[in-house]
Amino acid sequence: MTPSDTVNRNWFDPAPCFINGRWQPSVAGGRLELMNPSDGSVLAEIADGQAADIDLAVNAAKGALRGQWGALTAAERGRLLARLGRLVAEKTKELARLEALDVGKPLKQATADARALARYMEFYGGAADKVHGATIPYLAGYTVYTLREPHGVTGHIIPWNYPMQILGRSAGAALAMGNAIVIKPAAEACLTALAFAAMAHEAGFPAGAINIVPGGGPTAGGALARHGGVHHLSFTGSVGVGASVQAAAANNIVPVTLELGGKSPQLVFADADLDAALPFLVNAGIQNAGQTCSAASRLLVERPVYDQVIERMAARYRELSIGPALDDRDLGPLISAKQLQTVEGFVEQAEKSGKIVAKGQLPAGLPEGGYYCPPVLVGDVAPESALARDEIFGPLQVVMPFDDEAGAIALANDTEYGLVAGVWTANGARQMRLARAIRSGQVFINNYGAGGGVELPFGGFGKSGHGREKGFEALYGFSALKTVAAYHGT
Ligand code: NAD
Repeated sequence: MTPSDTVNRNWFDPAPCFINGRWQPSVAGGRLELMNPSDGSVLAEIADGQAADIDLAVNAAKGALRGQWGALTAAERGRLLARLGRLVAEKTKELARLEALDVGKPLKQATADARALARYMEFYGGAADKVHGATIPYLAGYTVYTLREPHGVTGHIIPWNYPMQILGRSAGAALAMGNAIVIKPAAEACLTALAFAAMAHEAGFPAGAINIVPGGGPTAGGALARHGGVHHLSFTGSVGVGASVQAAAANNIVPVTLELGGKSPQLVFADADLDAALPFLVNAGIQNAGQTCSAASRLLVERPVYDQVIERMAARYRELSIGPALDDRDLGPLISAKQLQTVEGFVEQAEKSGKIVAKGQLPAGLPEGGYYCPPVLVGDVAPESALARDEIFGPLQVVMPFDDEAGAIALANDTEYGLVAGVWTANGARQMRLARAIRSGQVFINNYGAGGGVELPFGGFGKSGHGREKGFEALYGFSALKTVAAYHGT
């Protein structure tokens, strides 16, 4: 079966690896079950990729760099990406449904994710031939210039919470710069990665430019991280696994981009427009059932408006609807039974603390086996508690009061993470001071998340990681700078 036969295939049939432009089962023939988080049933079987499959994929990528893919101009790569973006856009509905079923996320969120995937292809398609080198004034008789070259084979390890968006940002930038890529999607959710491969083939990407090996983390992911033929690694996931990927890359002296977790704050000052802030305060905590690296899970509120913010948020929390992904409520289920158990542990801690100010209700009639968790809002949390410090990755937000600007900054920075922050205040000078003072990869003023922001560089301080994805910045990360110094005399 060729990929073009399978663009519209039933992705719930056993989903194999995509290597060198072909679908193939894993070498060892093993399969993993993919669960449907909305009801706990088996959604599909996927290939259980292992080191041998990663090896084939890396070799296919090497071959592509030596062959047709490596010979393309930047403009030609850009055109392929733009074409792929159009194909993705045409299939928004199908991709959104697939992602919703696979991740358990509400259909409207999955639709936004599919649109973001198309937009990444469009953005990086347009950017591919706009990354220029520099000429450097030097000694008499020299002409010196720089070239931006692909690293070679890039490895991309993708998590399950936003498979399309995270694949899109990382693959888009890497392909624009001429790398050949090997993607290891998450074992919990990988169907849209396979659909992406089929569309890339239809768009005309040469064999080997894009390879996908589904499989387990320590097995397929570990093999990719350790592989000596990989020249750059991009990892999005947890801090612990990120550290192990960085250690593996260090053995091969390979650069790594790490996009890890967060405990992102939104700071609300008494002069803020609370009507404007409120939807952002709630949504940034419950979007994707809180399973978002940039979730605003810590809300810091100036004391004069603290009670008001809590009351208004609590009222909204009580209205939030919960249901299976395709019912498209405010929240879907969590990704897995394991994730549910972890989040329930934090909810228990919150219950013991006696500080829960609002808890959503699970409606009657939810599918029995689904991994549903009601949203929980916790007030007056102690800054040193696990609830205030740990990344929970579920629909639980904590709120803490502050008394002045210095206290707000101290609380905001009292974390080992530093991914995103939001600042709500009408005071322009304070906005500028806080944007500088908060240690965080992105700071949003009087908004949060800015609708995803394909164009906006994204990445962490501290344990949120290093390197930047998205925007033009990612193109520099996915390329190597070469300096050419030509002596020609005067
Ligand atoms: P995870 O670290 O368990 O898994 C992420 C990916 O790594 C998956 O593909 C997994 O199969 C793979 N993996 C697991 N063990 C591995 C190993 N030993 N070697 C190589 N690869 C391995 O994380 P998760 O549970 O899938 O995702 C949740 C975490 O990801 C959260 O901490 C969240 O904040 C973070 N995250 C960060 C961003 C960001 O952009 N900063 C985005 C999404 C998720």
